[in-house]
Amino acid sequence: MAQAKRTAKYKIKKNDMVMVVSGRDRGKTGKVMRVLRERGRVVIERLNMVKRHSKARGAASPGGIVDKEAPLDISNVMIFCERCNAPVRVGIKAADDGSKSRVCRRCGEAIGND
Ligand SMILES: [Zn+2]
Repeated sequence: MAQAKRTAKYKIKKNDMVMVVSGRDRGKTGKVMRVLRERGRVVIERLNMVKRHSKARGAASPGGIVDKEAPLDISNVMIFCERCNAPVRVGIKAADDGSKSRVCRRCGEAIGND
């Protein structure tokens, strides 16, 4: 029962284009690098950057301050439809062969490549 929440399914997947709809980076778009399903968070390329102070670990990692993406709450991002040029809601469409795909609720365009 509690399990269902932890394994909740999100319509956002890795490599999707999304727009941040609230918070500091509102209005920015980026590509999803990771979905932290169990925490309900997503990491978006070059968005929600934070400074990380890291220790030197030999020549390969000299340490210092590095910029790193921090996870955003998944409810603060929406799928960005390039055809609509807007953040949109996503619907699920079943094909004749039973396979399901995600589509833009506004224009019907397929989202992602699943
Ligand atoms: Zn669309």
